[in-house]
Amino acid sequence: CKRFVLARHFKGEPKPSDFSLVTEELPPIKDGEVLAEAEFLSLDPYMRVYVLRRPPGGTMIGGQVARVLESKSPDYKVGDHVVGDFGWRTHTVFNPEAHEHTLMRTYKLPDIGGLSPSLGLGVLGMPGNTAYFGLLEVCRPVKGETVVVSGAAGAVGSIVGQIAKIKGCRVVGFAGSDEKVKWLTEELGFDAAYNYKTTRPRDALKDGAPKGVDCYFDNVGGELSSSVINRMNYGGRVAVCGSISSYNADGLPKATIIQPAVVTNELKIEGFLVTRWNDRWGEGILQNLKWIQDGKLKYEETVTKGFENMPSALVGMLRGDNTGKAVVKV
Ligand code: NDP
Repeated sequence: CKRFVLARHFKGEPKPSDFSLVTEELPPIKDGEVLAEAEFLSLDPYMRVYVLRRPPGGTMIGGQVARVLESKSPDYKVGDHVVGDFGWRTHTVFNPEAHEHTLMRTYKLPDIGGLSPSLGLGVLGMPGNTAYFGLLEVCRPVKGETVVVSGAAGAVGSIVGQIAKIKGCRVVGFAGSDEKVKWLTEELGFDAAYNYKTTRPRDALKDGAPKGVDCYFDNVGGELSSSVINRMNYGGRVAVCGSISSYNADGLPKATIIQPAVVTNELKIEGFLVTRWNDRWGEGILQNLKWIQDGKLKYEETVTKGFENMPSALVGMLRGDNTGKAVVKV
């Protein structure tokens, strides 16, 4: 088994020297246990911040889709795919009954109709459910309303915008390159999209959201989010999903004032963790799968080949190299 250990806590952008690659022998499996080999590993923004809650020296955290090589558990047979919170490792021995879960549950990948198992880390997994539940349960968009999403070309954002379209909303996205903006409007059906690096958010919103903003799905935080919140309509709802604009920042982010808009327009701003809907996990996956099969939901993956490239792929995702979901294929 190969695994990446966090050698030291990140300062600013993660560096290859923050990780060390370790090789080890795994013990033979015992009754009730399963041996699985990683096929795809996920790269997620939370890795940049959550890993700092533990001392260095442990296996780097993260989810993966693995194929069962050997099983002494009645719940898994050889060849099954498991979605597991196993960390950055090529092989894992786990006990489905007793496995210690750090963030997410471990579960057998449901039947996804012959699509790539890697989707269990994206649109048919945690990010897809984040989009589905965060938009529908926190923003609660109504037909005809204007929904703005930041981080729009990423794993979560690209699905949020398309579900909002399915629900009959006007959808405006912000992303970090002209190619991403083109993809959002020409391929995914966003009504408008803007490159936040080259367009002033105020100008973009005047153009793209002339009737104001009713729902804001916030993946990035910072100045962009303050601009959006300052253009929200009475009774607007903000789903605070993440704040990636600050994840690599060591100092305090710039202060921005949103309170007058929040008060005057009686806005509801609600943070959420997707794990709130753990008991409805399958519902989100099956609905997103149905929309894919009906041709209503598109997805993209940015695949980096080679387990040894996990650190550089993480840095790349944080820099915005990915369109859709960032994964590593072992
Ligand atoms: P993405 O696939 O969106 O990848 C991250 C993207 O963030 C990059 O591609 C980049 O795109 C963008 N980005 C990087 N730096 C900045 C910046 N300074 N300002 C604006 N955008 C930036 O990741 P996910 O879809 O997996 O996650 C999106 C957000 O959702 C994150 O904040 C994450 O923490 C959060 N999240 C929250 C969950 C929850 O339960 N609350 C669950 C899952 C995710 P670009 O080119 O556009 O800059």
